[in-house]
Amino acid sequence: MKLELPELPYASDALEPHISAETFSYHHGKHHNTYVNKGNELLADAGVDADNLEDLVKACKKKGGPLFNNVAQHYNHDFFWKSMAPNAGGKPSGDVAKKIDQDFGSFDEFKKAFVDGGATQFGSGWVWLVSDGGKLKVVKTANADTPLTDGATPLAVCDVWEHAYYLDYQNRRPDFLNAFVDNLLNWDFVNENLSKA
Ligand code: MN
Repeated sequence: MKLELPELPYASDALEPHISAETFSYHHGKHHNTYVNKGNELLADAGVDADNLEDLVKACKKKGGPLFNNVAQHYNHDFFWKSMAPNAGGKPSGDVAKKIDQDFGSFDEFKKAFVDGGATQFGSGWVWLVSDGGKLKVVKTANADTPLTDGATPLAVCDVWEHAYYLDYQNRRPDFLNAFVDNLLNWDFVNENLSKA
C-alpha cells in the first residue's frame, strides 16, 4: 500500500489561536508531507505490505530504521490531526468520561498526567491516551515510536516535537499541552476509538 497525505479534518486556521495556520502550513504541508514521500520511497524497495495503515506500521516495526520512522510518523501525524477539533477539549462526555474517573480518579488527574507526560518527554516524541488491557493510561513515546506496536489501542495523541508548537509557543511546551487538553482534544474521536478497543 502507498501512503497518502490526508487532508486536515478542519480548515488550517480553524484551531487558532491555539495552533496557527502558519504552524499547519509547515507541520502538515512540509513535515508530514516529507514523511509520506520518504515513506513511499522506502516502501518501494522494502518488501513490506499490509491492508491498512495500522498493520503496515506493525510490519515496518520489525524492519526498524528509516522505514519504520517514516511510516510510523505518517500514522502518528494522521492520528494527531484527528485527535483535535475546533471548540473541543475540556471535560469529556460519553463513555470516556466514566473511564477517566475510574482509571485516573478525576478529569483533573488525567489532565495532570497528560500534560506532565508531554512536558517530561525529553527531546522529540509524543504523549498518548491509550487503552491497555481495558485500562486507560497516559504513555509517552520517543521520536517515531507509537504504542500501537506495544499492543495498546491509541485513543488520542499530542505531538511534542518542537516543530508542533515552536512558532506559536516557542519553548513553552506545557502551555501548548494545556491548550491541547483544554481547547482542542477531540473527545468524539476518543469515544469512537474507545468503542473499538
Ligand atoms: Mn510532528
